[in-house]
Amino acid sequence: MSATGLPPYDDANIFARILRGEIPCRKIHEDDHALAFHDINPQAPVHVLVIPKGQYVSVADFSASATDAEVAGFWRAVAKVAKDLGLEQSGYRVLTNMGSDGGQEVPHFHIHIFGGRPIGRMVP
Ligand code: IMP
Repeated sequence: MSATGLPPYDDANIFARILRGEIPCRKIHEDDHALAFHDINPQAPVHVLVIPKGQYVSVADFSASATDAEVAGFWRAVAKVAKDLGLEQSGYRVLTNMGSDGGQEVPHFHIHIFGGRPIGRMVP
């Protein structure tokens, strides 16, 4: 376990392989802190993943361990990608799954952006 109580980072995960260029992705944006690409199994007309370049398992790990520059750079990339995809006017959803109860499948922190249709409310 890491300092956050989570499993340590495993650089064999699929997003680490995408970052290393070993597996292709449909890239939307890349900068010093983030890479954004289309989800391979889209759940909305626009379904994009944004991942930090650093090796963080989850939002908990990222929040505990990333530098302020990495955190700011990552979130600015999330907002930029949504804006560049034309989602700002109608809106969009940002979501992250964390751990087993959260349904996280890929153990490299990532944000989902869903848009292009009404996504619906998840909380009453
Ligand atoms: P999680 O459940 O939040 O971990 O979501 C992982 C996401 O990664 C899912 O929406 C998958 O469809 C997506 N995914 C898995 N492999 C790939 C890939 O190779 N390219 C793009 N998206 C992927």
